[in-house]
Amino acid sequence: MNAFSLEGKTALVTGANTGIGQAIAVAMGRAGASVICGGRRSCAETVSQISDAREMVLDFADPMAARDVFADERIDILVNNAGIIRRSDAVDFSEADWDDVIDVNLKAVFFTSQAFGRAVLARGGAGSIVNIASLLSVQGGIRVASYTASKHGVAGITKLLANEWAAKGVNVNAIAPGYIATNNTEALRNDEARNRAILERIPAGRWGEADDIGEAAVFLASPAAKYIHGAVLNVDGGWLAR
Ligand code: NAP
Repeated sequence: MNAFSLEGKTALVTGANTGIGQAIAVAMGRAGASVICGGRRSCAETVSQISDAREMVLDFADPMAARDVFADERIDILVNNAGIIRRSDAVDFSEADWDDVIDVNLKAVFFTSQAFGRAVLARGGAGSIVNIASLLSVQGGIRVASYTASKHGVAGITKLLANEWAAKGVNVNAIAPGYIATNNTEALRNDEARNRAILERIPAGRWGEADDIGEAAVFLASPAAKYIHGAVLNVDGGWLAR
């Protein structure tokens, strides 16, 4: 048996229409999983790259949007990837920019995990959650108050859920991506000074690719990671080692 295979497993990836979520969905498909591509818009482009995949409409503007998803069918792997960011000086930060980000990045992650966990525990265990955290799960960042709060929260609930569910057959872990070239980081890459400063600090000397995260997510969802619980795996080209 290949311990890195996801053959026979069904994975739900949120925010799978683009960026890191798309790369995770495609990598999980390559590893043999049947993939449900969750998105608030069409995931057709992602589905077309996977041999066994379909779409599911999931808009976390309602953080409880996935409450009924896991009761209807057996899903073995949940990847909480959907996320947003808002930038503003702390003194000007608006309540809307706080609430919108916390709802999608943190509240939806917890309640989607809760719904998944309830279903997996009810059938006697065996499931994996991979949360997409951030460097800002451990660093402060700048001008991104709600994002930093949400991603610190994601690291926290990853550990909390691992503590509650590790002995019951559910692995809960997270990935902290470094600077990955996606829509989320377009503003940073377009800012010449920030882009240069970021690149100078990354030991690997390049921005990450979404697929760098895809392969790490396959690992954490696979039997090879069965004794890994509550970990936040940095996939950051060495950024946090500096
Ligand atoms: P992205 O290209 O902007 O993708 C974000 C995904 O989340 C998109 O599919 C987006 O859908 C979806 N999404 C946003 N709001 C949603 C909602 N209300 N309901 C459902 N889906 C929603 O950015 P990305 O870089 O791939 O980000 C993916 C995850 O990685 C996020 O959690 C982000 O915080 C995290 N991350 C990224 C980096 C990086 O360097 N790129 C670093 C650390 C962590 P739409 O396309 O419809 O907006």
